[in-house]
Amino acid sequence: MKCRVCGKQASINLRAYNTALCDKDFIEFLEKRIVNTIDDYKLLSVNDRPLVAISGGKDSLSLWYMLNKTGYPCDGFYIDLGIEGYSHISLEKVKRMADRVKKKVYLFSVYNLIQKGIDGLTKTMRRPPCSACGMIKRYVMNMVCIEKGYTVLVTGHNLDDEASALLGNILFWKEVYLWKKSISLPGEEGHLVKKVKPLFLCSEREMAAYAILNSIDYIYEECPYSHDAKTILYKRILNTIEEKSPGMKIQFIKGYLKMVKDGEKKNHYCIHCGYPAYGDTCSVCRLLSKLGIEKDVNFEEYSPYSLDSERQEVT
Ligand SMILES: [Zn+2]
Ligand SMILES: [Zn+2]
Repeated sequence: MKCRVCGKQASINLRAYNTALCDKDFIEFLEKRIVNTIDDYKLLSVNDRPLVAISGGKDSLSLWYMLNKTGYPCDGFYIDLGIEGYSHISLEKVKRMADRVKKKVYLFSVYNLIQKGIDGLTKTMRRPPCSACGMIKRYVMNMVCIEKGYTVLVTGHNLDDEASALLGNILFWKEVYLWKKSISLPGEEGHLVKKVKPLFLCSEREMAAYAILNSIDYIYEECPYSHDAKTILYKRILNTIEEKSPGMKIQFIKGYLKMVKDGEKKNHYCIHCGYPAYGDTCSVCRLLSKLGIEKDVNFEEYSPYSLDSERQEVT
């Protein structure tokens, strides 16, 4: 198998694109796809100040690295969920990447906000951990962008994440969620930040290969709570179909992007904090009042370099 670009020995076969590439040309191929996705779907503009949400996993760390490398300088944001044996390892990986891309990362501890970790929160809310965690994360990610003046929140959801979520929403006809999974969701000044997902068209396998080829040090362990059996099943089913019919996943998700319409839903905002809510009060304000805690919105910062120094090439 030869590299389609340079003719040398290929190291990765991309059946969805009917092509094979060597390490160097694969890296270029994937970076070009990110840049094209950003352009085609108008994810970022020159005036934007993007902030990347980073978990310490391969997708978000690679995304942060790629964006800084391809001309989209951006800071990072990390939420310490206080999960024993997991959160402190992922934080180390995030700081290491901050040093590498020479960018600032905001660190926010869930303890600061609710005086509990996710374990404690799950008990208080009587909600499954992923649902409690998702609620807090959405709130805090939106808040940090608005408080610190970032115009776009960038997340590392990949093709497999999105295709499996879409399949789940279709199987159960969850219409409310169906149209809220697009590659770009508009914001509203002062209340809601715009959200984008530049890895929407990049598969799990491509992202893993990219991370390894670029020696990106990421946390291999999944979050101890994330054993959502359904998501794993949907990913497996989609991979089985992909095996028989290469390119199906990307076709599935691109078809969805053609159909999805933005801004159909009118947003409601919390009367206390001004951020998105279903009723008058958002879930976080309701939770804090139940716990009798004042909101503390202190973000710690980790800056690997002096901020007024010139931006350096990412290596
Ligand atoms: Zn090549
Ligand atoms: Zn609120």
